[in-house]
Amino acid sequence: MTAPLLSVRGLTVDYRVGRGRLRAVDHVDLDLEQGETLAVIGESGSGKSTIASALLRLVPVAGGSVEFDGLDWASLRGAALRRERHRMQFVPQDAGSSLDPRWRVRESVAEPLVVAGKPLRQAREQAGTMLDRVGLEGPLQERFPHQLSGGQRQRVAIARALVSRPRLVICDEAVSALDVSLQAEIVNLLVELRAERDLTYVFITHDIALLPYVADRVGVLYLGQVVESGPARDVLVDPQHPYTQGLLSSLPGAHAAGGADRPVRGEIPDPANPPTGCRFHPRCPVAVDGCPEFEPAAVAVSPAHSAACHLLGPQSETPGRTADPLVPPPSSLLRKARS
Ligand code: SF4
Repeated sequence: MTAPLLSVRGLTVDYRVGRGRLRAVDHVDLDLEQGETLAVIGESGSGKSTIASALLRLVPVAGGSVEFDGLDWASLRGAALRRERHRMQFVPQDAGSSLDPRWRVRESVAEPLVVAGKPLRQAREQAGTMLDRVGLEGPLQERFPHQLSGGQRQRVAIARALVSRPRLVICDEAVSALDVSLQAEIVNLLVELRAERDLTYVFITHDIALLPYVADRVGVLYLGQVVESGPARDVLVDPQHPYTQGLLSSLPGAHAAGGADRPVRGEIPDPANPPTGCRFHPRCPVAVDGCPEFEPAAVAVSPAHSAACHLLGPQSETPGRTADPLVPPPSSLLRKARS
């Protein structure tokens, strides 16, 4: 069996807030095989974009390990990091703000190649070919970002991310700012490019409706913790965590597909002051007595599918986050839930 392209263990990211500390990502584990798409789903404030920033080495990591493409990625520094950065690239939500408004888009796409040492003429040629591939041909390549539509700018961002032939591309809400028909076009383009270039994606989104089109695997994030993960089909058809079930209930036909008819209510709590025990308990429609006190461990519901909820019963715990040793036996919680 080959090693995964990306293997994240115990990833933890803290931000300073005044004199305190906000734990934006809390002991997250993720695995991703070459050629797969892992969708990381959750509401705004769940820590999704912080995971992207940590993988891209844009924010410091407080703990954990990241193995990527055979490298100890989290410990690369300085020149070594600059040399390897091309392996992992990024498509942002708002391409407009990530492109230099003074540069024609072909120059923006050529820039990563020039920075990597390619002669300007060759870099421009390669940028032109890449822009052709994403559907921006001829005179469009000589325009400035403000002269393009939102969908065209997103194509530029994809070309810029792919021009240096990365192994992994992180798409952070990459279609969220587009209308539905443009979303479909860009998602189709990403799926085609993945097959053509043997790419691997981390697809970060708050929009669960996109998952059937893009995801092989899904990680559901709530207040910085993965509450459910597994093959996309398993998570979408047979969601185990009440939060996942709530997210899925917003989809048409969700009930038949496994989403309980229990939409997630209320707002996500302040990540600087998360609830005790199970962080989802103030919003959980099936919370029981021990939920505010005891943090649930991730439990394997099948070899590749796990979720962290006290109601899941006494299956074996998955590696990674473990339960508080004081947690009562799940069977006692189940009895309370059913009574
Ligand atoms: Fe709900 Fe309790 Fe399960 Fe948390 S552990 S999701 S509060 S039932």
